[in-house]
Amino acid sequence: MSIIVLGTVALDSVKTPFGRRTELLGGSAAHFSMAARLFTRVNLIAIVGSDFPKKHMAFLRDKGLNLSSLSVDKGKTFRWEGQYEGDLNSALTLNTQLGVLSVFKPEVSEAQRKIEYIFLANVDPDIQEHLLTRMHSPKLIGLDSMNYWINTKRKALIKLLKHIDIYVANDQEARALSGESNLIKAAKALCAMGSRMVLIKKGEHGVLFYNKKFIFSLPAYPVEKVIDPTGAGDTFAGGFMGYLTQAGKVDAAAIKKALAYGTVAASFNVEDFGLSRTSKLRRADLERRLSQFKKCFSF
Ligand code: AMP
Repeated sequence: MSIIVLGTVALDSVKTPFGRRTELLGGSAAHFSMAARLFTRVNLIAIVGSDFPKKHMAFLRDKGLNLSSLSVDKGKTFRWEGQYEGDLNSALTLNTQLGVLSVFKPEVSEAQRKIEYIFLANVDPDIQEHLLTRMHSPKLIGLDSMNYWINTKRKALIKLLKHIDIYVANDQEARALSGESNLIKAAKALCAMGSRMVLIKKGEHGVLFYNKKFIFSLPAYPVEKVIDPTGAGDTFAGGFMGYLTQAGKVDAAAIKKALAYGTVAASFNVEDFGLSRTSKLRRADLERRLSQFKKCFSF
């Protein structure tokens, strides 16, 4: 079993109450991969510019990711600059520079086109659609997006929803795309727009899952020191989709367990800047924290 993730590989500059870091390796696909690799073989589809540091490429390769469809093009790597304040639940985007992303048309090998588990991480919806048309036999397609694309490519995103199985969003994004402020109403509206299932991440307040058969909700794993939440949503998605890929089935029990893995994976991500914590993670760390998490519910 393996998974394809399409998204950004980025140079991130972030400021949180705990410090500032510039040009860290990040991006939606990179954060996703750090968690998904603990469950399955990850095929990373993205583009970087000729300025992308070689040490970052080696770092990603060392993590066991298949980088054969990570394109390197003339121009600048995608850069994102953000800031967190107060409860650190939402990022304030200060600057987004698309660079080579603006010309990206993802290409995948014939073998990769046969992969059944697909995650379209946060990137331009036109690029997400392009990849989807290349895939032969998807079994589970997840999709994430963010305000930047909801605001600039709304129509393309709504069109895409009809072709996916699970839409992954944070609470603000789910409200923005559906026009509903209540999250259950928002989830229903997003299903009516085409997605079979909806997963809404609520930062420190956990996650809400909705499909026509059941609603499921989990709190976040209690973390005392949140240093940098950048990529927590993507890490969540990596744990969630990674587990489902390994399980090879998408029934209610598997979904609930996948949500728990996503939750614990994300809890590691917020404990340090960028990929520092998740890149060192082993499956045993996840399992240990998962059993701690389960204890939160035994009363
Ligand atoms: P998250 O905190 O899970 O929402 O994801 C943050 C990651 O998404 C960062 O590593 C950024 O590089 C990346 N990112 C930020 N803005 C965008 C965008 N407009 N498109 C794709 N990726 C982005």
